[in-house]
Amino acid sequence: MSELVRGKMPVIFVGHGNPMNTLTENVYTRTWRNLGHWMPTPSAILCVSAHWTTRGTWISGQEQPSTIHDFRGFPAELFAMQYPARGDLGLARRVEQLLAPVKVGLDDNQGLDHGVWSVLAHVYPQADIPVLQLSIDATQEPAYHYRLGRALMPLRREGVLVMGSGNVVHNLGRMDTGPNAPPQPWAQNFNVWVRSRIEENDDNALTHYLDFGTDAVRSVPTPEHFLPLLYCLGLREADDTLSFPTDGIESGAISMLSVALGLDKESLRQAA
Ligand code: ZN
Repeated sequence: MSELVRGKMPVIFVGHGNPMNTLTENVYTRTWRNLGHWMPTPSAILCVSAHWTTRGTWISGQEQPSTIHDFRGFPAELFAMQYPARGDLGLARRVEQLLAPVKVGLDDNQGLDHGVWSVLAHVYPQADIPVLQLSIDATQEPAYHYRLGRALMPLRREGVLVMGSGNVVHNLGRMDTGPNAPPQPWAQNFNVWVRSRIEENDDNALTHYLDFGTDAVRSVPTPEHFLPLLYCLGLREADDTLSFPTDGIESGAISMLSVALGLDKESLRQAA
């Protein structure tokens, strides 16, 4: 991994998909591993994951976060998975300060959920960088989440990697678990629309994503997997490069689209 060469950290949104990606080598997890080499080494990682929704906004406050196995029906090997990164109370306080006047509670029972560690186990397999989670206040509108992302912008110049983990399209009830299931048309349409809006910097359309109609409603039947993207877009700066490290629809109804802002692969390769 290279040192921070451009003065600010990239921001990444990762489509995490199936928890088994933790243990699997595929086109997505290979790219997640590369991300760890392409990005400057952060001082800490702040994650917004689909799997921590709350009333009010909270930040994880454990000094040694536990690894939460928040799923059922997976092999014992996945339940044995540990991601022993430290927490960072100093960063928790800094986030509280940046988000004021929004009140941020410190939750010293919250560990790391699988939306975080299924990805970080590939990006930073050594688990040697402190990790915090910021919860998703399920009572708030999309624009609230976008604004919180915006308020976190100074963290990029403080060496902190902000990572959103969710899925742009996430409809478990419409999954086709057969081999090589093709993307369902509504999932494909919404995924393409989201990607185009990001390319056109149209954050307003993305905070009003349900206006896209039926395909949006099918793709985002509940908002928690979509909202982490809005935090990341809130952190976007005008000169950020934009790339999509992964894309694809798994099981017909799960988008693996990832978004990287400010990730300059060429200069990082040269600096490495
Ligand atoms: Zn998930």
